Amino acid sequence: MKNERKYTILKEIWGYTSFREPQSDIMDHVLSGQDALIIMPTGGGKSLCFQLPALLMEGVAIVISPLIALMNDQVNALKLSGVQVAAIHSNMSRNEMMDVERNLLSGNIKLLYVSPERANTSGFSELLSRLKLALFAIDEAHCVSVWGNDFRPDYVQLNVLRDRFRQVPFIALTATADGATQEDICKQLHLIQPKVFVSSFERKNITVESRPAEQRFRQVMEFLTKLKDQCGIIYCLSRKETEKLSIKLRQMGWNCDFYHAGMDAEDRNRVQKDFQDDKIQFICATIAFGMGIDKSNIRWIIHYSMPKNLEGYYQEIGRAGRDGRPAKALLFYSWADYLMLKKFVDDSNALEDFKTVQYAKLDRMWEYASANECRTNIVLNYFGEYRTQPCGHCDNCLLPPKSREASEIAQKALSAVLRCGENVGLNLLIDVLRGSFRAEVREGGYDQIKTFGAGKDISYINWKIYITQLINQGYVRIDYTDHFKLKTTPLSKAVLFEGKKVHLVDLTYTDQVAEAAPKPKQKKIILEDQLIQKLKEWRTEQARNKQVPAYVIFADKVFENIAASKPLTLADLLNVEGIGKVKMEQYGKDIISIVQGFVTSQADEIKVQGKTYLETFNLYRQGKSPAEIAKIRDIAETTIYSHLAYLYTKDEPIDLMQYVSETEITAVEKAWQKAGQEMALAAIAEYLVTPIEFHKIRLALAIIIKRIKSKEK
Ligand code: ADP
Ligand code: ZN
Repeated sequence: MKNERKYTILKEIWGYTSFREPQSDIMDHVLSGQDALIIMPTGGGKSLCFQLPALLMEGVAIVISPLIALMNDQVNALKLSGVQVAAIHSNMSRNEMMDVERNLLSGNIKLLYVSPERANTSGFSELLSRLKLALFAIDEAHCVSVWGNDFRPDYVQLNVLRDRFRQVPFIALTATADGATQEDICKQLHLIQPKVFVSSFERKNITVESRPAEQRFRQVMEFLTKLKDQCGIIYCLSRKETEKLSIKLRQMGWNCDFYHAGMDAEDRNRVQKDFQDDKIQFICATIAFGMGIDKSNIRWIIHYSMPKNLEGYYQEIGRAGRDGRPAKALLFYSWADYLMLKKFVDDSNALEDFKTVQYAKLDRMWEYASANECRTNIVLNYFGEYRTQPCGHCDNCLLPPKSREASEIAQKALSAVLRCGENVGLNLLIDVLRGSFRAEVREGGYDQIKTFGAGKDISYINWKIYITQLINQGYVRIDYTDHFKLKTTPLSKAVLFEGKKVHLVDLTYTDQVAEAAPKPKQKKIILEDQLIQKLKEWRTEQARNKQVPAYVIFADKVFENIAASKPLTLADLLNVEGIGKVKMEQYGKDIISIVQGFVTSQADEIKVQGKTYLETFNLYRQGKSPAEIAKIRDIAETTIYSHLAYLYTKDEPIDLMQYVSETEITAVEKAWQKAGQEMALAAIAEYLVTPIEFHKIRLALAIIIKRIKSKEK
């Protein structure tokens, strides 16, 4: 079933003209009353998949969302677009609650947001029985599965609702779910023959890069210096690290702050808000930061340490570039990270089965971080989207690492593993190879073996990089059951005794990858940025008045669209992607006057279609007659008339009736009809009984057409 009304709503409420893949199919499916599981990357446009159908269906749509902050933002954004929406969560007063209930019962609400713990109360259950329901949408649905990375017990109980309202469609949505998690979500929520929609997880606008964590503070400083003032997030593994790093960077003059779950709510809110309002350039945070933010202009993400799994990593980098513009993700990884994360799992009280899954996930993360092939493909494969062609936006695609024959290096390492009796871990092995006399080496008697010092000429970090590759290629393995000691494998023998060739990659990170994306700004871009800045200042003011985050008023993307097209009239503004009807009515005039003001002040710099109309318009508004305007502007008076006619058709307040009489209009209309509604002035003039000046014919025509159009409406 195809529903065409959805296009009307899409333009009216959201101001968009087309759906993204596969939004339209999802909506048709939902509108036909069936269950669905939607896997779409962050920023892909999940919310529209239930919000829009909700407006087309009878009754109220129930949206389960785990985070109050996120919930409030969606609710505020929808309200500003003219949608009847409400939220129920535990931070509400009794009175607010009763208000919402009253509105619900009188059918005044199309979408109701509820936190999962509220949804499971008997009070809510009772309320539901008195409502006509359109659909249920379960946001962040991975929380229902222990296979996901953010299990919430409250979520599992939602299947009670599914069982109770079997005739109401259930839609589960998430940005993060591997194959096992997807199946589990359907099972746990008791979805009825759900159709699974998986959109591509590829984020083409994000350049991903992974580097060994040597001297990472210096590397971060260099990275930041290149980025100038762009917004970003640095993810750290521990709370303490967020604080330490933030303080250190602040001392170096950076405008940053830290965020973690151990801070009190007030501080967390303040940091989050300052970041959202562009007052802080970046945040050093634990993974607690991000779930609740919806900031579209985050340009970069740094992982200061390696995350514990690819789900988390990919979700975190997905917070960058939500506006579709280029963004960067830089990952630092080290063996120490790996060991620490592994220890977290070791020390947790989880069941053995669960631990096994966590170990496997951690291994995949390590493989990703240290890979020499296309990283995007590794992630996509992980999420079940099999692909082999290179992505072109990861470091390995942009600057393919050059592998070289390094059999001798491999032999030295493997021989040392054997001669140390397969009894040493990575770090100690490197010390042996490099001929270190530290206590542990001497105590083990390793300074006596033949390969002691055989790898002096290779730096510590390079040894680490090489041995990691040998591990990845299967020539040596880490024995997790025996203190992470290195052991040989069947492949080791081939290298040591049968002359098997080994190829390794020299990882010298270069800044070329980081530089692959940004290009020098052209004049045009600079001007656009200035206009965007003006619009943002206005937005900050509006946001303050309304007490909502700025992006709820307008997303940055919309301002970029405006800056690119510079609409000078309301009619043109309505054509801009992202401008819906209600926002147009509410803010259209403000925006147009900002654009007009900017274009006028930059008169010499900007070429805008319609700028000449604007100049005429400004003089007209000052009360000048067409003749005077023509004189001031040094152009023909007839041209001025055509400007005024144009502005009039764009619904600007121009009183054309003062220049042409009703009798003349009637005469022109007759002639125009006789001429077969021909628009050429000369053709119309042919049919006129009494001649009328051309510029008046033009004005009359504009009036006639507008009258016809308003009758059609
Ligand atoms: P998700 O919930 O998947 O992370 P959102 O639903 O918040 O993503 O959408 C991300 C951004 O994309 C929002 O600014 C949204 O308005 C915008 N968006 C969604 N659908 C479309 C569309 N069809 N055309 C243009 N922009 C869209
Ligand atoms: Zn790639």
